[in-house]
Amino acid sequence: MVLQVKQPLIALFGGTFDPIHQGHVQSALELASILEAKEFRLLPCHRPPHRNNPGVTSKHRVAMARLAVADYPALTIDDRECQRNQLSYTVDTIEQVRSEYGEEVSLCWVMGVDAFAGLASWHCWQRLLEMVNIVVIARPGSVLPTVGPMADLLEAHRTDNVDDLHQCAKGQILLQHLTAYSISATDIRALLKQGESANQWLSDSVIQYIQQHQLYNH
Ligand code: ATP
Repeated sequence: MVLQVKQPLIALFGGTFDPIHQGHVQSALELASILEAKEFRLLPCHRPPHRNNPGVTSKHRVAMARLAVADYPALTIDDRECQRNQLSYTVDTIEQVRSEYGEEVSLCWVMGVDAFAGLASWHCWQRLLEMVNIVVIARPGSVLPTVGPMADLLEAHRTDNVDDLHQCAKGQILLQHLTAYSISATDIRALLKQGESANQWLSDSVIQYIQQHQLYNH
């Protein structure tokens, strides 16, 4: 009888995190538990290739991310993209992580539906599934593409079984529904710029940091 060994699973959640909010943190916590992730890393990007540079430096965004997860041992911040002072190509990050962990470990790149829908514009996106699984998290207001390259990719690689992510180190796409948080960092920046409160979406330590460093108020 062949015993299928459950491989450890490392989840990687990239983003601008400008600023990190409850939609990121609570989704990450819920998903870490569903995936039974050995590690769940949030990776703030330094300079996103496919959108304008964030208004707030990566140093501040990493600092806020560290504060936001400080109470949650299941989550860690990986600042490798900010250490590379260049455009943050996900394919480079994944290549680096894969070489550190070897071929056996299941690596899962986590992204919201909105990010997945735009994946075809990412540098070398076709190589991603050769190195990782992808976990797409449903997000209020965003829908999965039904035509085009992402719809085709999904059809070819989709699984609905979390266990498959522990059996396969790469090449699978899981669509996962989580508790919905109808918030974006864009909304939060707009609220703060108008002098309104975004406190319900931010951790106390992040609110304090924003006030201390006078971020997002102009
Ligand atoms: P912005 O409004 O500046 O685009 P954002 O809130 O969408 O920011 P990002 O830092 O761009 O946040 O997102 C990082 C990742 O988190 C992306 O894959 C995105 O889809 C996902 N994400 C962001 N907000 C939520 C949310 N409320 N629920 C689920 N996923 C989210």
